[in-house]
Amino acid sequence: MSDFRADLHCHSTCSDGSDAPLELVKEAKKRALHGLSITDHDTAAAYTPELFAQAEALSLRIVTGVEISTELEGLSVHILGYGYDLHSLSFSTFLQDIQKQRAERNRSILKKLANRNMSIAEEELLATETKTIGRPHIAALMVKKGYVSSVQQAFDWFLKDGAPCDASGFQHTPQEAIKQIQQGGGKAILAHPHFYKREAYLKKILSCSFDGIECYYASLPLVLELPWVHLAKDRGWIVTGGSDYHGVFKNILLGSSWLGLDIFNTSLVR
Ligand code: AMP
Ligand code: ZN
Ligand code: FE
Ligand code: FE
Repeated sequence: MSDFRADLHCHSTCSDGSDAPLELVKEAKKRALHGLSITDHDTAAAYTPELFAQAEALSLRIVTGVEISTELEGLSVHILGYGYDLHSLSFSTFLQDIQKQRAERNRSILKKLANRNMSIAEEELLATETKTIGRPHIAALMVKKGYVSSVQQAFDWFLKDGAPCDASGFQHTPQEAIKQIQQGGGKAILAHPHFYKREAYLKKILSCSFDGIECYYASLPLVLELPWVHLAKDRGWIVTGGSDYHGVFKNILLGSSWLGLDIFNTSLVR
């Protein structure tokens, strides 16, 4: 049996991770991984020629990845895309479109915070040096300005899904994102299905035409992962796994969940 392990879910400084893409490649080698996909929120900015060169020099296999923000009934649903063509015009236009939706959504969140005497100027948020700006960056500014004592408190009290200062604004449905990923030559995977607790809601998400589902996630106990594996088998879907590593921003190690060689080779790599 091969000892090949690929972590297919992590975030870089292009979205809300603390490690730059090249640092993620080094970290992956340190954690004895053989494959990696950097799945930043709504951007492929990590995939530079330098990244591929660094990975090749360290014999780390890379599959292109992204975590797409969609919305169903006003709540966020995350869809992973793997193996898409970096030169796909339709897909890069799709990502740009989501970036515009994000800018608008961030403005809505800032307005709601201002209404509660927690003002943050849009320029301050835009000074964040990253491609994809979202709630974690707003939360960090809330800490900096002394409105809350930690990023977690910012989420728990104000920003988490459905909280008073969360805002909707992603305009694509999960099904539209799936179509765009597939048109871009990639595979569309439902990320962290266990996040969706309401059964009727989960059923609606699962009625979309995914290629696969993220069954192995971070340090989720196996007993909570196996039902997703069974579901994938029933539907003929690909099983994937990854850590959702965000560097120092989350207490999760790169490689805490991973995928073996078979699926990596047969289903994901172009
Ligand atoms: P956004 O893309 O702006 O919707 O922000 C989503 C990101 O915020 C997620 O990927 C997590 O990194 C973080 N996040 C979402 N919900 C929470 C929460 N309840 N506590 C801490 N971080 C969260
Ligand atoms: Zn994130
Ligand atoms: Fe996610
Ligand atoms: Fe993620």
